[in-house]
Amino acid sequence: MKDIDKYNKTDVLIVGGGPAGLAAAIRLKYEKPELEVCVIEKGQELGNHNLSGAVLEVMALHQLLDDVRPGWMESNKAKEVLANKIEKDSITFLLGKSLSFNIFFMIKIANMLGLSLGQMMHIDDYSVSISRLTRWLGEIASELGAEVLKGFAAEDVIFNDVKGVVTGVKLIDQGLDKEGNKQPNYLAGEIVKADFVVLAEGCDGLLTENLVGKAGLERKSDQLYSVSVKELIKVNPDQYEKFTPGRVVHAMGYPLWRPVIGPAMFGGGIIYAGMKDHLSVGIIVGADWKYHDFNPQDALVRFKEHRFVEQYIKGGTVVEAGAKMIPEGGYYAIPRDPVSGSIGIGNCIIAGDSAGFVNMLKIKGLHNAIISGTKAAKAIASSISEPNEAAKQYTKLIDNSSVDKEMMSGRNYRQTIAKLGPLFGLPISVLGNLLPKFKVEKDYEVMTKAKYRFKCKHRFDKDTFTAVAATEHREDQPSHLIIIDKNICVEKCAAKFERPCITFCPAGVYETISDEVKAANPSNCLHCKTCQRKCPFDNIRWTVPEGGGGPRYQRM
Ligand code: SF4
Repeated sequence: MKDIDKYNKTDVLIVGGGPAGLAAAIRLKYEKPELEVCVIEKGQELGNHNLSGAVLEVMALHQLLDDVRPGWMESNKAKEVLANKIEKDSITFLLGKSLSFNIFFMIKIANMLGLSLGQMMHIDDYSVSISRLTRWLGEIASELGAEVLKGFAAEDVIFNDVKGVVTGVKLIDQGLDKEGNKQPNYLAGEIVKADFVVLAEGCDGLLTENLVGKAGLERKSDQLYSVSVKELIKVNPDQYEKFTPGRVVHAMGYPLWRPVIGPAMFGGGIIYAGMKDHLSVGIIVGADWKYHDFNPQDALVRFKEHRFVEQYIKGGTVVEAGAKMIPEGGYYAIPRDPVSGSIGIGNCIIAGDSAGFVNMLKIKGLHNAIISGTKAAKAIASSISEPNEAAKQYTKLIDNSSVDKEMMSGRNYRQTIAKLGPLFGLPISVLGNLLPKFKVEKDYEVMTKAKYRFKCKHRFDKDTFTAVAATEHREDQPSHLIIIDKNICVEKCAAKFERPCITFCPAGVYETISDEVKAANPSNCLHCKTCQRKCPFDNIRWTVPEGGGGPRYQRM
């Protein structure tokens, strides 16, 4: 805690040491080296809480680094991070448990016709480890003089509603026991004040959502989420060569949806070539699934068992695993000030996944996170004399950037599929912006009594999954998972949906104990926040645990 003492007031406070926050720090220290820039990150180390496929459009790094670090692509670190250039791109449709069809030609045709679906191409992008990328960006930010503080968790944003500005953030208290009693090592969470605040916490950011409520920011459409579960698998060299280094596969169909009969969920599987002899295998599922007994990990197992996937990974060893949500709602789900339209308010800017800059047509948002961090820095640099103009300046920069252009181009895509289902919605979505803006329900509102047909025969081994995610929290602290009304679990949820949080939580946090649903194992939590967005009664809140807790992703 001693490091934060000198920062109880700083010029710029960035909440979240992921790609967006670190891009903002790098660019700020380049443009205004005299500014004191402080990044706080809740993970124990940078990259520990970052999980993505991940496909990166390298132009985002060019925008960030070309004048900060001329020749940066020749550095050993850059070569390590960008070791996998994508040279082969496959879109595969899986039919049943064994058939597969490469339908990449359809994307090529869409691209030639100028249809928005044509964006779904990844040739010349890079398949990266977001954890490694984040660590590298953190090194650059530190070298430039930004103070990057790891293991510091913020629980709230301090908003002055009279002035319409954010004056700082409140860090979480440390050293409480499970019942909330102060222990000898108790430290009250400090308030860190700042002239400018950048919220770059990732998907479903705690402070971001607090600010949305406090400042009255609005979304034209509710945010939609997806849940991704991913494994990094060490395979044998022959399988790696057979898959082809430099290849990415995006798969749709089985086990998430099937024409005519079967489940109907938005999403699909991925296989990305990673570092030597490692493949990233994952499944991404729209959180608007209706099956009350569905667990995305069951779908991952089924995906891995498909003949097309199995040929590349059979006999392999899972060396790392994790889960995370993705904001999918797109353009209409970006939180804005209803009066000025700014993404944030006054001196406070919302960047990256916290703003929702994921383009589902491209199935990626990492480039937008980095670009938005860069724009946040430029907006702050140009608002030094008028800090309360920063969010407006930032929004102008975003509105005139590639971020806005591509978010606009896909603005109806996800909502169309949410409204019409993947079978009808996907083909109709090629009409792009000729389509109306469909009103969609929140993810948690759509759960039904229907059952998922492709469940694993055996209970998914969540213990091993969380072990390879290396998640840890100090055991003797108050639970950061709040069940708002325990009676709802017993009286409504059990009878209607059989307590789905027990099934879908990827870390096995929830259990029934003496007929009561409890967050029995909060120290297993992967910070994916699925429970907060998928409890069918909106009865769970994810709050932040003490800094340093959570997964310890190294190569995700
Ligand atoms: Fe994710 Fe909630 Fe389970 Fe934690 S408790 S791993 S946030 S679903």
